Amino acid sequence: MVPMSPPSRLRPYRKAASILAILLLVAVAAATVFGVRLLAESNRWVEHSQQVMRHLEASQSLLASTQAASRGYRLTSHPSLRGEFERLAPLALAAAQDLVGVTHDNPAQNARAAALLEQSAAQLARMRELVDIQDQEGPAAAIKAMRVEELIERMHDINGTSAAMRAEELRLLAGRRATNERNAALLLAFVLLSLAVSLATFWTLLVSLSRENTRNRRLEREARDALESLQHSQALTERLSAQRWALSEYTGMLQSAQNMDEAMELTSRTFERLLPHLGGQCYLSRASRDFLESRASFGQPAIASSDAFPPDDCWALRRGQPHHNQRAANVRCGHLEHGPSMAGLSTLCVPLSAHGETLGMLHASGPVDGGKDDNDAAIIELLGEQLAMAIANLRLRETLRQQSLRDPLTGLFNRRYFEESLRREMLRCERRRLPLSLLVLDIDHFKAFNDSMGHTAGDAVLAHVGRTVASLVRAEDMACRYGGEEFTIVMPEADAAGAVARAEAIRRAVSQATISHNGQTLGPVTVSIGVAAFPHDGVTPELLFEVADASLYRAKAEGRNRVLHATAG
Ligand code: GH3
Ligand code: MG
Ligand code: MG
Repeated sequence: MVPMSPPSRLRPYRKAASILAILLLVAVAAATVFGVRLLAESNRWVEHSQQVMRHLEASQSLLASTQAASRGYRLTSHPSLRGEFERLAPLALAAAQDLVGVTHDNPAQNARAAALLEQSAAQLARMRELVDIQDQEGPAAAIKAMRVEELIERMHDINGTSAAMRAEELRLLAGRRATNERNAALLLAFVLLSLAVSLATFWTLLVSLSRENTRNRRLEREARDALESLQHSQALTERLSAQRWALSEYTGMLQSAQNMDEAMELTSRTFERLLPHLGGQCYLSRASRDFLESRASFGQPAIASSDAFPPDDCWALRRGQPHHNQRAANVRCGHLEHGPSMAGLSTLCVPLSAHGETLGMLHASGPVDGGKDDNDAAIIELLGEQLAMAIANLRLRETLRQQSLRDPLTGLFNRRYFEESLRREMLRCERRRLPLSLLVLDIDHFKAFNDSMGHTAGDAVLAHVGRTVASLVRAEDMACRYGGEEFTIVMPEADAAGAVARAEAIRRAVSQATISHNGQTLGPVTVSIGVAAFPHDGVTPELLFEVADASLYRAKAEGRNRVLHATAG
């Protein structure tokens, strides 16, 4: 698991920072609106000062023009100058009055404007007086009436007042410009600073969010990975528990297997169920132990393995322990196909042994599958252990069964087996409406033979007759030693004629044989055989036996060394 990284340190401040950045942007907007309005206001004041200056200039200029017209008229008496004076004088007065009007918001300037108006009005009135004198009394009278000092003094006053007004207005203008510039600089600084702070805040928030996002994505990925590994381990657990269950079921059923075929069938099915991705074979040792033969195969093997091979071809059998062919320096067992490469393949041989005896070998192969291989090997070894025990038990059981069914001297079935099989075969033939014959064979004068040649020679004769009988009956016939020197042969599906012919062949073979025992020739030995056929001679085993036995009795009575069929006689 990847260690979890701590959440961003900025996380608790993110909301506050967002609010701060937004507030700063709002402040910037407000400051901009406020600043624009302030600038507009300042501009109005500048405009106003310029208006005052324009009116002052106009008033001065008109007064000077009026004065020039009046002076010109005095000097030339030209009527056009008189007319010019009449036109300009009211304009000059009006200009002075306008000046008073535009300065009403500034009492000091307003007072100066009022003084200027008064001075201008007095100057204009004096000019009109002189013009009127000139009109009535002539230019000389006007020049004479003119008090030059007074005019010059008033002109000085007017110039002084207007100079003071101009100076004041210029001072105001300079002050307003300075305020404007300061305000603009302050506003600019505020706007830039606020923008910088809010941008920095936004950038930090963005970085923090992006980190958070990356972290969340990683956490999501980690959670997904964790879930996947949980599901994987859950699936593994389920698979293991299913495997354990299947193994315990296999063990239980294996103990109840009746024969090797059932055990092999069970192993195939269990292997394919537990390890569907592997293939393999189960080998059993021959009785001679010099060879192993394949008795079952399952799945799709990744590499072919011989059907039969000597034990020395398998490392697992040589060493008495499981052998991984792709491990252990890649040593390949001799029973595996030699050509193909083993790269990417996993093969395993597990010896099947019990009580120190090698019974066979379980072989499996498949593609290498990482972590599953060890588990697979463990399963195959467990299967092998269980199977080995089952094989040992089955062999033991088979030996015991053989011992309980066979007569040790002749190798033929014993009386118990005869009685069982006669009953069973009669029922089967009855169901299928088929005949069945029974031969009862007795060695002639055996007692005398025993007495003269000895018991062991008698045993040799018994064994010889047993072998002769066994060699002359069909595979499906059952030859038994009924007891003493009496034999029975159950011949399913054989009618009386066939049975008589077979009995005759046996009789002839025995009578013609030369039996040697301890370097001495025994014999001749003859046998008498009674024949009975189902259903004609009897429909129950007891009846059929009685009839056959009676026929034998009759054969003895009639001279021995012969075959007699009950109804034929
Ligand atoms: P018959 O021709 O009438 O059959 O004469 P027989 O001598 O064979 O008659 P009987 O059935 O009386 O003799 C059977 C003899 O077989 C008795 C016993 O000594 C002998 N015998 C029975 N079982 C064995 C055995 O396992 N080994 C040996 N050596 N002899 C046996
Ligand atoms: Mg007898
Ligand atoms: Mg006899």
